Amino acid sequence: MNQTVLITGASRGIGAACAEEFAKRGYRVIVNYNQNKKAAEAVCEKIRALGGVCMCVQADVSDAEQVQKMFEKAEALGGVDVLVNNAGIAKTAMLCDTTPELWHSIFATNVDGVYHCCRAALSHMVSKKHGRIINLSSMWGQVGASCESAYSAAKAAVIGFTKALAKELGPSGITVNCVAPGLIDTDMNAHLSAEDIEAFCEEIPLGTVGTPAQVAAAVCFLASEEASYVTGQVLSVNGGCVIV
Ligand code: NAP
Repeated sequence: MNQTVLITGASRGIGAACAEEFAKRGYRVIVNYNQNKKAAEAVCEKIRALGGVCMCVQADVSDAEQVQKMFEKAEALGGVDVLVNNAGIAKTAMLCDTTPELWHSIFATNVDGVYHCCRAALSHMVSKKHGRIINLSSMWGQVGASCESAYSAAKAAVIGFTKALAKELGPSGITVNCVAPGLIDTDMNAHLSAEDIEAFCEEIPLGTVGTPAQVAAAVCFLASEEASYVTGQVLSVNGGCVIV
């Protein structure tokens, strides 16, 4: 495997699981983080211990300049062939409590971050006439979540962006897809009580919360040669919840 993958927000949760799974499949891995340097370094150490090639790069994906610098550093591993836009933040708030600052911060990371990283990845992928972009949306971007209007809107925007970019980049040999997880066991859901989780699981056909590794497997599939004719799609990893 001669490809390099850059995963945003790979210090924890789904991003960290993606980093490990790509490394197992022989990719060189760039682990982006924002604040958790120690956790990101631990992910890199684990990958190196398995014999993988890995590099940590700090960048706030909501900042275009920081993203540009991150992609310049990625040249050290040959440039980014696979981009996983995973970095995200969520906040539960009723709309009346969703201040403009909160609204903009959710869009800055979840939507602007995807836009910045895709723009920065383009020149390398277009020159190679090959590339894979996988964006993490959410089931809430498909069906909406009560008291998460900003997050739901941001994740729906990621789906629209993905479909449009897939059409634009298809002629350049680049695929662009989304993974839309349901409820996954990460820090993002640490605020939920055991009762909340139990109630949620009753609505999930498979009856359990998902794991970061299960999402990582779907992301790796979309990056693989097996998915070479798949673009502009949303792959739900949600235990069977119905999306209408
Ligand atoms: P998580 O455990 O909360 O981890 C979030 C990751 O994003 C961390 O590595 C964090 O980095 C990084 N991050 C946050 N803001 C960033 C920024 N501005 N720039 C760069 N990195 C940033 O989240 P998760 O549950 O793994 O979620 C990963 C993705 O899946 C998100 O896009 C999320 O919306 C989506 N998703 C999650 C679920 C779920 O149930 N967990 C469901 C559907 C979709 P630092 O720690 O270094 O700050």
